[in-house]
Amino acid sequence: MEGKPFVIEDAVASIVRAPLASPFRIATGQHDELANVFLCLRSGDGICGYGEAAVATHITGETVEGTLANLQIAAHALRGSWVDNPKEVCKGFAHAFAGNHAGLAALEMAVLDLFARKQEVPLYQLFAPATGRQPQLSFDTDITIVIGTLDEARSGAKQFAARGFRKFKIKIGKDEDLDLMRILAVWQAAPGSELILDANMGFTADRMLAFLARLEKYQIRPALLEQPVPRTDWQGLAQITAKLAGSGILVCADESVGSLDDAKRAIESQAVSAINIKTMKSGFIEGVEIARLAAANGIRLMLGAMMESSLSITASAHFAAGLGCFDFMDLDTTFFLKGEPAHSPCLNERGHFDLAGAGPGIGVVAKF
Ligand SMILES: [Mg+2]
Repeated sequence: MEGKPFVIEDAVASIVRAPLASPFRIATGQHDELANVFLCLRSGDGICGYGEAAVATHITGETVEGTLANLQIAAHALRGSWVDNPKEVCKGFAHAFAGNHAGLAALEMAVLDLFARKQEVPLYQLFAPATGRQPQLSFDTDITIVIGTLDEARSGAKQFAARGFRKFKIKIGKDEDLDLMRILAVWQAAPGSELILDANMGFTADRMLAFLARLEKYQIRPALLEQPVPRTDWQGLAQITAKLAGSGILVCADESVGSLDDAKRAIESQAVSAINIKTMKSGFIEGVEIARLAAANGIRLMLGAMMESSLSITASAHFAAGLGCFDFMDLDTTFFLKGEPAHSPCLNERGHFDLAGAGPGIGVVAKF
């Protein structure tokens, strides 16, 4: 990852807010608005690279104020500095962002975006394909049915199915009987769709397996089951994974895997058959290492997101496109926003990404 060196003339971090169309509810909490920290890096010729930190306090404990403070310190350090190898520049900040992975993701995104724009290449070209893979420039995201009433699940699924969505990620883990009815409602509203269940740690292993058995009675078998049990319940994950081997249902770690070390543990203990990578959990540089390790070990991959705008979502799309080893795309948060702080020319209204012709850089102009 080297190219023509340049100087960062200016760097500014600021908070950007945008309302949601409706609250984004999961088993462990909810988002009521997008309140993210954006970073803009500008070179002497006026070219800007953008980064975004999506802070999910109810999931990670990070705060918007703390992330802003960290990014302001980093911005100060970056002003006047040379960039020849963006990966090295990013690595130099990893320690300063310990415990603030969303902040690190924003910093890395902005440095990589500016670098790619300066080299006049799309961002995905900075992520070489995983072994044996090819860049994948075209794919569909799933759409999330958040925790809510039966009517909300039914009407949400109907609306999104009518728009052309064919992959549904249903949040469960608050109320098993209601969850079952919500899943049936989505299946009826969008028959034949790919179903992903995300429990956000809301079950025990035994309860999860019993719940899947109830679903089987309706001939419903999800393609993937995400984070059924608490983050540190490796035994529970391994129990479910062993039980579902050969069933066609993948067991995916999300909250359990934030770092490369977590991924190593998950793989070595055969706890899961899939991992959900999010740039907001691991940053871009470490995220690449997790993806390569998982792909080399036959672990399937999902690319997920926190409450991110089109800017960050499209950066993640480039990440997945370059590596070419992701089977599940969960980059749908822009569909829950009202009034976007950014617009992505690569993403259409039915959740289809097309990165052919994208860029330079992320190819998205942020309005802040
Ligand atoms: Mg999840």
